[in-house]
Amino acid sequence: MFDFSEKTAIVTGAASGIGAAIAHELAAAGATVIVSDLRADGCDGVVKDIRDRGGKALAYAADVGDPAAMEALVAFAEAETGALHLAVNNAGIGGAQAPVGEYPLESWAQVINVNLNGVFYGMRYQIPAMERAGGGAIVNMASILGSVGFAHSSAYVASKHAVLGLTKTGAMEYAQKGIRINAVGPGFIQTPLLTDNLDQDMLDGLAGMHPIGRIGTPEEVSALTCFLLSDRASFITGSYHLVDGGYTAP
Ligand code: NAP
Repeated sequence: MFDFSEKTAIVTGAASGIGAAIAHELAAAGATVIVSDLRADGCDGVVKDIRDRGGKALAYAADVGDPAAMEALVAFAEAETGALHLAVNNAGIGGAQAPVGEYPLESWAQVINVNLNGVFYGMRYQIPAMERAGGGAIVNMASILGSVGFAHSSAYVASKHAVLGLTKTGAMEYAQKGIRINAVGPGFIQTPLLTDNLDQDMLDGLAGMHPIGRIGTPEEVSALTCFLLSDRASFITGSYHLVDGGYTAP
């Protein structure tokens, strides 16, 4: 549906779930994808799958919570492919489940560092590279929990709300330099982030909170993300786009 040939894209958190689906869709549409995640073996697996299907991909293990690693990731993309045009700041973690008055300080710091600082560190180095490339597009992975609360998940909810502010501000600053920046807000999606932490009863309960009556798929999030990265979205910047089966409609 989209044409990303001649484009280089970084996807963080790309070894699993939503990030892996986005990496696959970008590569299928012609992009050279830098598959980045914490663990090298996870990156290598997705790169192999993409290459087996005839796509172009390179692996780069990096912690989004480490600014030096984010700078090095962008430098790798430019050195290997010549320029960076697209980025998806997707890596994220759920963190501890507890009410605010009991929330573990260590988990708060970890969630903010990965889910918020990680997006900032990504943008901090992706944007200058996109300026060098003459323009680009960024999608930051927020959540429905970027606009509504969720009990016992204060760090996650706060981090995702903050990603929206960062997205809007960056979009305003770089709109006239040909760099569009948007956020995506998925509802609950069938990935290890969810399935590793919840039993079937809890998953069924979450499904019932979506008017569509089920949890979403990584491919449904990828479809919106790739649209926002594409030239078909040329007048869209600084906004928050839900893919949530109606979760936030009531
Ligand atoms: P996932 O399957 O757990 O994938 C996330 C990937 O990010 C994992 O491979 C994880 O590695 C990696 N990662 C974690 N910390 C990292 C770090 N510091 N640096 C680099 N990579 C790191 O989760 P997902 O559901 O696809 O989530 C992707 C994004 O969508 C997240 O931002 C999440 O908040 C958001 N989201 C998910 C849902 C949902 O219901 N699934 C809903 C709304 C928004 P490890 O496995 O080694 O930790």
